[in-house]
Amino acid sequence: ESHLARLNLAEPRLRSFLHVSDSVLREAREIDEKIHRNEETGLLAGVLVGVKDNICAINMPATAGSKLLQGYFPPFDATAVKKVKQSGGIVVGKTNMDEFGMGSTTERSSYQVTANPWDTSRVPGGSSGGSAAAVSAGQCVVSLGSDTGGSVRQPASFCGVVGLKPTYGRVSRYGLMAYASSLDVIGCFGTSVADAAILLHAISGHDKLDATCSKLDVPDFTAQFMSASLLDSQPLKGLKIGLIRETVNDGVDTGVISSIQGAALHMEALGCTVTEVSLPSFSLGLPAYYILASSESSSNLSRYDGVRYGNRAAAEELSNLYGDSRAQGFGPEVKMRIMMGTYALSAGYYDAYYKRAQQVRTLVQKSFKSALAENDILISPAAPSAAYKIGEKKNDPLAMYAGDIMTVNVNLAGLPALVVPCGFVNQGKTRLPVGVQMIGAAFDEDKLLRIGHIFE
Ligand code: GLN
Repeated sequence: ESHLARLNLAEPRLRSFLHVSDSVLREAREIDEKIHRNEETGLLAGVLVGVKDNICAINMPATAGSKLLQGYFPPFDATAVKKVKQSGGIVVGKTNMDEFGMGSTTERSSYQVTANPWDTSRVPGGSSGGSAAAVSAGQCVVSLGSDTGGSVRQPASFCGVVGLKPTYGRVSRYGLMAYASSLDVIGCFGTSVADAAILLHAISGHDKLDATCSKLDVPDFTAQFMSASLLDSQPLKGLKIGLIRETVNDGVDTGVISSIQGAALHMEALGCTVTEVSLPSFSLGLPAYYILASSESSSNLSRYDGVRYGNRAAAEELSNLYGDSRAQGFGPEVKMRIMMGTYALSAGYYDAYYKRAQQVRTLVQKSFKSALAENDILISPAAPSAAYKIGEKKNDPLAMYAGDIMTVNVNLAGLPALVVPCGFVNQGKTRLPVGVQMIGAAFDEDKLLRIGHIFE
C-alpha cells in the first residue's frame, strides 16, 4: 500500500508508468497468507517490480513505447517475468521507454516523456528511463529494463540508482521484444547493489526458449551480501582495476571525470590498485554499434506489419495495409533506424558498412579481452554528462547518439557491467547524480557485485 501510494503521488510529475496493475494488493495479500501458513515464498516475496514495456507480462498491455503496438496484450509471460513471479515478486506495472528501445532519454516514447526525479525539467535517460525513474522515486522496489547499447546503465547513472547489465546470455530474452538480437539483454535496477543482485539471481539461468541463453551454472549472486568479508577493512585487496583512458578525456564533463577519479581513489583506499589502460578501438565502437543495431532492427521490426500485432491501418489493398500501418504506427526515430539499417544491409553497401562494423566488433572484443586479462575489472563513466534538460538533444540525433559512447562497446563485446552512484555534479542549484561503470569478464557478475558493494 505504501509503495502504491508513493507511485500514485509521484506519477503525475514523473510519468514513469504506461500501465499500472490493478491486482497488486490482491497478489500481496496472497503472499501474506502464504507467509502466515509458513509456505515457501521466494527471494522476491511481496517485492514490487516494475517491468519495461518491451518485456511481455500476461494480462497487461505491452507496447514497447510504440503506437504500433497500442492495444496489444501478449498472451504469455517473458521468461524473466515468469521467474520474478515464481520468486514471489509482484509486477506493479509497465514502465515507459523510448520506442522499441531506440533512444537515450524516453523522449522517443510515443506516449509520454518521463521526468528525472532529481530535477523534473531533466530527462531520466533511456531507453529504460521509466524503470530507472520508478526505482529512484520509490514507486517500486526494483525493476527490469533492457540494455542494447546502454539503456540500463545510462538511466541508472542519470537517476542515481544501481543498474546492472548482465553478460549476454545470462538472462533469457524470451518475451523481450527484439531490437538488436545480438546485443539485447534484460537488466536490473535497484537502489542498492544487493537489490540488483537479488533480482539478477531471480531472473538468471538457462531457458530452452532462447537459443542464445547460456547453460552455465548460475552462482548464488546473493551469497556474498551475507558474508563477513564485507566487514573487512581492505575488501579489494589484491584486485587490479583498469581505468579506461579513452573515457576520461576532453569530451567528458569535468564533474563526471572528478566523480570517477574520486571513485578510483575510494577503491584504492580499500586495497586494490587502479591504473589507466588504453582500449585503442574504443571510439570506433559507437559508429559500429549504430550500424549493427540499426541493421538488426530493420530486420527484427519487419514483423510489425499491421497483421500480426497491434494497430492496423484502415486500408483496402494489402500492400497499403502494410505500408500505412507502419507509416502511422512507427515514430520518426524508428523509421530513421529502419532506413539506416536497410541501407547498410543493401547489396551495394553491405561490405562498406555492415561487414566493416562486424570487423570493428571483433576488434572491440579483442581489446576488452586483453585489458581484462591484465585487470580484474575496468572502470569508466556511465555517460559523458549528468542528466540534461528535456528537449536539449531531442532534435539533434547525432548529439544523442554521441552520449552512448561509454556504454555501447560493452554490448558489442557481450560483457557484464554494473553502474553504481559514485558522486554528483552541480548544475546551478541542482545536484545531479553520476554513476561509475564497472565492466567485468563474461559471466563474472559476481565479482562486479562484490566490488560495486563498496560504494554503499
Ligand atoms: N541509446 C541507444 C540506442 O538508441 C541504446 C538503446 C538501448 O540500449 N536500448 O540505440
